[in-house]
This record gives sequence, C-alpha cells and structure tokens, in this order.
Amino acid sequence: MDALVLHGGAGHKSELRDVMQKYAEEAFKNDALESVIQAVVFMEDNPLFNAGTGSNMRMDGSIQMDAAVMVPGDFGAVINIENVKNPVLVARDVMHHSPHLILAGDGAVKFARKMGYPEYNPATEKARERRDKVIQELRNGKIPSYYHPDFLMEFLGDTVGAVARIDEKFAAAVSTGGTSLTLRGRVGDSPIIGAGIYCGENGAVVATGIGEEIIRHMLSLAIYNRIGTAPLEEICREEIEKFGDVPVGVIAVSIEEECAVSNRNMPYAILRMEERNR
Ligand code: ASP
Repeated sequence: MDALVLHGGAGHKSELRDVMQKYAEEAFKNDALESVIQAVVFMEDNPLFNAGTGSNMRMDGSIQMDAAVMVPGDFGAVINIENVKNPVLVARDVMHHSPHLILAGDGAVKFARKMGYPEYNPATEKARERRDKVIQELRNGKIPSYYHPDFLMEFLGDTVGAVARIDEKFAAAVSTGGTSLTLRGRVGDSPIIGAGIYCGENGAVVATGIGEEIIRHMLSLAIYNRIGTAPLEEICREEIEKFGDVPVGVIAVSIEEECAVSNRNMPYAILRMEERNR
C-alpha cells in the first residue's frame, strides 16, 4: 500500500487537518518525490503555515527560509534563502541541477534566480505582528525561555513536511521559516541531513520542533536507524520521549508502516492508497 504523510508543525492548531487532508489527496502522484514536494508547495503557499508565504521573521525583520528534499542516496537543501516563493522547489533543483547538495544565503538566492524563480516577498502581516511581539516582549523582559513549552506555540511552530512511500520508493521534503526569536543566520534542523530529514531504502522521516535539540539528537537518523526493530510508531514515541518537555514531532514511513507522533498538538494528514485505487 502507498502512503503520503504531511505535518503542519509541532505546536500548530489542529483545525488545519481538513485542509491538509485535501492537500494530501491533491499532492498524491505516482512518484514519491513529486508527491512530497507538491504537498509542501501547497503548505508553503498557505500563509497559515510557517514556510514560504507566511514564514516567520527573524528578530531583525528579515525572512530567511530553509528547505530540503531527500530520496535514497540523494539530497538537496537551501539554507537561509530569501525572497523566493517556494524554497522546496529550489532545494529540489539544487539536488537535480547543481553539483552540490546544499546552497546557502545569497548563493542560494542567485541559484534560484538562475533557475528562473522570480523575486517574491513572503512577508505577511501576521509574521510582522509576531516579530513585533517578540521585540516588545524582549524589551519588557518577558520572553519565555527558548526551551519553554509555550515557546513553540508562540514563536516557532507551523513548519511543514511530508514523507511518502509510493511504488515502494521513499521520499521526504521539509520547509520552514524558522522562528521569530532568532538571530539572522540561524539554521534549524530542517535542512540538516539526519536531523530534520532523512530518507533511505528502508523509509523516510521528517521532524519538527525546537531545531537545536533535534540537531543534538540527530532525530530523523536515530529513528531511521531503528526501522525494523520495533513498530514504527513505538520507535518514534521512544525517540521523542528522550526530549522530555521540549516540543518535538515527527512523521515517518517504512516499508509497511506510516505514522505521525508528537508531544504537542501537531496537525497532520495520512493518506493511504491501494495501487488499484489510483
Ligand atoms: N524545526 C524548525 C526549526 O527549528 C521549526 C519547526 O519545526 O517549527 O527551524
């Protein structure tokens, strides 16, 4: 059975589930990579998610986005890219049309322009308000600790990702605007292979939550390496338990299983398709 799993970020409101189910149905194609990319593009284009349009602003007011795609044996990522509509498409092009795996900063922007992606401002009023709130709270000395459980709800959250198993092939994609409470140049887990994303011959994993902690745990690779040793959902739960109270979530697919697990509210959609129904 084929499967496509989407997440809308640990800490996000779960009323997005319906729209995500629709995205999953519309994104489902006969190719795993195309399906995860299309699902992420839908969420990047919806300003309710923290990716593409609607991405968080850094404390200095800039928007720097990270995105990555992965299939067994290949990877592409953009880090701190600015002024593009769909970072995940640029990450795919890094994988397919450059000799590199990762492009960052102005080099990523230049590459995007060369590939034909026009200048686009992803800023929204909501993102501006969120960032203004961060600055105001900092001035008032009220900012919650970076690792405080409330932090994700307020300033992180809403990152998007997708994993798929289609025709026995796996793929993963992720995209994020990061968090408002960070310095320009900060990089989270999303574009870091093995941390926010991993995909191999046995499955695919994408993570969401406090990026710094996810990197420390190499969460996606930790889950991937255990595939086949226990039920997939149990593996994900056990790895998430290691984070204690730190907000984190994952979506994963293996050869026979698929799941979405988080220690916070995390909207997700799981689409299972029998080959004959396609
Ligand atoms: N993990 C992402 C980051 O730290 C944020 C998120 O998942 O909401 O950049």
